[in-house]
Amino acid sequence: MNPISAPRGTRDVYPPESAHWIRLEGDCRDIARRFGYGEIRTPIFEATELFARGVGETTDIVEKEMYTFTDKGDRSMTLRPELTAGIVRAVLEHKLFAQGPQRLYALGPFFRYERPQAGRYRQAHQLSVECFGVAGADADAEVIQIAALLLARYGIADAALNLNSVGDSVCRPRYRAALLDHFRPHADALSADSQRRLERNPLRILDSKDEKDRPFVETAPLMIDLLCDDCRAHFDTLRRYLDALGIAYTINPRIVRGLDYYTRTVFEFVSSVLGAQSTVCGGGRYDGLVEELGGPPTPGVGFGLGLERFLMVVEKLAGEHAPVRRGIQAIALGDAARDRLMPVVGKLRETSGEPTFADWQDRKLTAHFKAADRNGARWALILGDDELAKEEIVLRDLLAREDRRLPMAGPAAEVARTLVEATT
Ligand code: ATP
Ligand code: MG
Repeated sequence: MNPISAPRGTRDVYPPESAHWIRLEGDCRDIARRFGYGEIRTPIFEATELFARGVGETTDIVEKEMYTFTDKGDRSMTLRPELTAGIVRAVLEHKLFAQGPQRLYALGPFFRYERPQAGRYRQAHQLSVECFGVAGADADAEVIQIAALLLARYGIADAALNLNSVGDSVCRPRYRAALLDHFRPHADALSADSQRRLERNPLRILDSKDEKDRPFVETAPLMIDLLCDDCRAHFDTLRRYLDALGIAYTINPRIVRGLDYYTRTVFEFVSSVLGAQSTVCGGGRYDGLVEELGGPPTPGVGFGLGLERFLMVVEKLAGEHAPVRRGIQAIALGDAARDRLMPVVGKLRETSGEPTFADWQDRKLTAHFKAADRNGARWALILGDDELAKEEIVLRDLLAREDRRLPMAGPAAEVARTLVEATT
């Protein structure tokens, strides 16, 4: 029988790589907590209509990338292609807006039917950060600082913050008209997607990755030149706040982001080490989204940060680092030694914060040392007949390659305490 492989565009994560995931998720939670953001968990599938309305009918995501299925009750369901729409749905359903501004984050998988390549998967994971109910640019600066701190914590200095404004319901219609004037004369030369989107949503053309569109996109008018007074003021205030926080940025009038719901601020953190899939984090303000999903008019701002891409940057920048060795490999040579060592290992696992590895099978010492290397153990604890007779145990420092003999007399708890002291 042929073995079954994982679906295309998905990845299994297992040790030692999973340790990087645990650490990154822990850092996401820690930084969110420092800003007063609470975790929200929502289902990974929702009614298809939620994404059609929330992400936008003419976006790549909704037109091409969604995993949609009909369930046994004949309802159209979709695996979430991003986290924000589900979060808004939940916040509305539980009437959380009645309690004032909501600062929330979520960690988890999202699904897009894309062509798999480095940094692009069909199941990927995001940190999604959302601040609802604050209209001022202080909230934009706040969420940007969350992403900036996470990058800084991993020493990712090369990620550049690109900033733009895509206007609001006052100035965007003017921009739309300007775009139509610009693209219409070249309609026949545009890609099929862009031709189709021209009349419905010309802004989407700006986000096209098709080579055919590029010359026309490059010469298109810029939203930033057409901002209304309020949008201009919002943008200027955000720039002031970022300067005050010491967060460097570049104004990039070309970024529009792939989701329809953005208003005013849009931003991306881009890393040069990632190649084609260079965006680690993308976000912006979405003042119309909550209303679009049936809620009261509520401003919002947030971002999605791709965990796979984040870890790729970390790995590329770190290069080949020797992994940190930690914990103890317990080695018993013979039945009597095993009986004596097992309760000590039990106590170590109860009381020490570091891992204790043990393989109780009857094996040669060299095999045990191999296991210690595989486990990344810092210490080996060796008990054989010799040591048993002397009521001693050998503690080997696997980094310094030094042996110490420690007393093995007394109850297991006492021996474990001596060992914890000797190894910290
Ligand atoms: P891209 O332009 O690379 O397709 P996007 O604009 O579609 O990105 P968003 O919808 O803003 O991306 O998602 C936020 C973040 O999630 C991205 O910045 C990226 O880090 C990550 N991401 C998006 N799509 C994928 C994917 N298919 N595989 C892995 N990570 C992804
Ligand atoms: Mg995309």
